[in-house]
Amino acid sequence: MPPVFRFAPSPNGYLHLGHAYSALLNVQCAQQSGGRLLLRIEDIDPTRCRPEFEQAIYEDLAWLGITWEQPVRRQSEHLAEYRAALERLQGMGLVYPSFESRAEIARLVAQRDADGAWPRDPDGAPLYPGTATSLSEARRAGLMAGGVPYALRLDMAAAIARVGRLAWDEHGAGPSGESGRVEARPEAWGDVVLARKETPTSYHLSVVLDDVLQGVTEVVRGQDLFHATSVHRLLQVLLGLPAPAYRHHQLIRDAQGHKLSKSTQATGLRALRAEGVSPAEIRHRIGMV
Ligand code: GLU
Repeated sequence: MPPVFRFAPSPNGYLHLGHAYSALLNVQCAQQSGGRLLLRIEDIDPTRCRPEFEQAIYEDLAWLGITWEQPVRRQSEHLAEYRAALERLQGMGLVYPSFESRAEIARLVAQRDADGAWPRDPDGAPLYPGTATSLSEARRAGLMAGGVPYALRLDMAAAIARVGRLAWDEHGAGPSGESGRVEARPEAWGDVVLARKETPTSYHLSVVLDDVLQGVTEVVRGQDLFHATSVHRLLQVLLGLPAPAYRHHQLIRDAQGHKLSKSTQATGLRALRAEGVSPAEIRHRIGMV
C-alpha cells in the first residue's frame, strides 16, 4: 500500500509561507515515496472559520502548483463521527463536564499562581484549575438542565492510568531536537477539552479520528504541533486506533525569528501573489527548490 500524506489547514485566515512550506514538504514526501496526498479542511470552529478562507486555501495551493485527491474532507461534515468517539470515551468514564467560564478559569489560575506557579501546558496555557470532578451527579445534572455552557474534558490521570506509558516514532525533530522513539507526555496538557456544549469535538479528537478514517500513514506537520502528539497517541490507544508515523518539521520564521501568523500581511501568500511574487520565488524563499 502506498503511504498516505495529508495537509490539514484551518480556514480561519489566509495561508502564509509556513503553510506553503508544510504543504510542499508533504508533496515532496508523497512524490519521493510514491505516496498519495490528501487535503483536509479543519473547520470545526464556526466562530473562526469562514468560507472565503476555505476558498482561498484551494486557490493558493493550486497557484503553488499543488494537486490533491478529491473529495476533500471537511471536518464540519463529520461531527457525528467525532460524537460517536467521544461517547466511547464517556462510556469508559474518562470524560467529565466542567462549567467554569473563561473568566472564572482566569481567576482560579491567578489564585493558584499566587500560591506558587500553576503549571502551563506546552503551548503556554494554564492547565485546568477547576474542581469539576468533585461535583455531585445531581449538581452536574442540574447545571446541564439549566443550560449552563460546559466543556467536556478528558480525565487525564484516569486516561493515563488506563493505558500506561506511550511513545511514537518521530522521523523529524521536536523543538528540542527530540527524534527517534519519543516518549509521550500527555500529562503535560492536563485535562484537555475534547468537546464543548456547542461543538461535539476538538482539534485533538478530530485530528486523531480523521487521520485513521482517511488512512493517513504519515503525518508531516510543523514543530508547533510536536507536543500535541502526546495527546494524540493517548487518544489513539484509548480508542484502539493505529498510529501513523510522525515527522515534525522546522517552522518558517520572520526576520526577527518569530513564528509566522495568519494575521501578518507581509508573509501571506495572497499578499505576496498580489505583489507579483511567483510560485517559484515562494519555493526559493522557503528553501523548497
Ligand atoms: N489544522 C492544524 C493547523 O492548521 C493542523 C493540524 C495537523 O496538521 O495536525 O495548524
